[in-house]
Amino acid sequence: MEVIENMRGKSEKDEPLLKTYFKRYLLDVRGVSSRTVKHYCDALNNITRHLKEKHLIRDSIYEVTDLKVLHDLRDILLQDADFVALDRRGNRMYTAGFNNYLRFAEGQSFAELHDRAGALDIPMPPIAEEPRTYEVHHFMRSDILRGQTLAFADYRCEMDGDHKTFIAERTHKPYMESHHAIPIHLQGKFEHSLDIYANLVCLCPICHRKIHYGLMDDRRLMMYEIYEKRHERLSRSGITLGKEEFADLVLHDGADYARHL
Ligand SMILES: [Zn+2]
Ligand SMILES: [Zn+2]
Repeated sequence: MEVIENMRGKSEKDEPLLKTYFKRYLLDVRGVSSRTVKHYCDALNNITRHLKEKHLIRDSIYEVTDLKVLHDLRDILLQDADFVALDRRGNRMYTAGFNNYLRFAEGQSFAELHDRAGALDIPMPPIAEEPRTYEVHHFMRSDILRGQTLAFADYRCEMDGDHKTFIAERTHKPYMESHHAIPIHLQGKFEHSLDIYANLVCLCPICHRKIHYGLMDDRRLMMYEIYEKRHERLSRSGITLGKEEFADLVLHDGADYARHL
């Protein structure tokens, strides 16, 4: 039980981060009616209940941060006679809810949302630390958010969209990496979550290594560029920093850096 209680977004009034983002995405980005959003969310609540009864998840569908696990869960549901019957009685609202959530989690059509990404920049409660049974404390990071970050940027390096990589087998898109502009282990210094769209940047592998291991001066220039691109979005997400403050915070964090790729 300790594990569950320590999971992200589990505090009473705070709903899970991915649920908040999903609702915003449907309403403000995809322009779905609030009635339909409610239907989808109800469907996902029922799916959560169903999966918990089968001991397939511990908490809620929104706590699943691995895309592959989400796909597996859908496959399991579609082969489950009880679920299929339930879905049929409910006019297939359950599969519609799950499929829309998967579309969101996969970052489908995120590339076209570029200019509307601001709709998703909202302050989120800070990331919870994992239970103290771990020797080293890790902050939980969402793999779903990472994947969506790449889709948002349309798989182009945010330092220079012309940077070339190779095609990744998993996505059949140019291989890119997601980078936290403000390292996640600095969460303790902030009131709001650092694992948010505004703090995630899509970088080509060379730029990503460079921003972690490059010359101090080069890294500072990269920080300035990221700052220019992101400070307004960060501020809307409850993270307000000046340009030098931002660069200093990240650059003077050297020792911890390598393990936070
Ligand atoms: Zn990084
Ligand atoms: Zn690059």
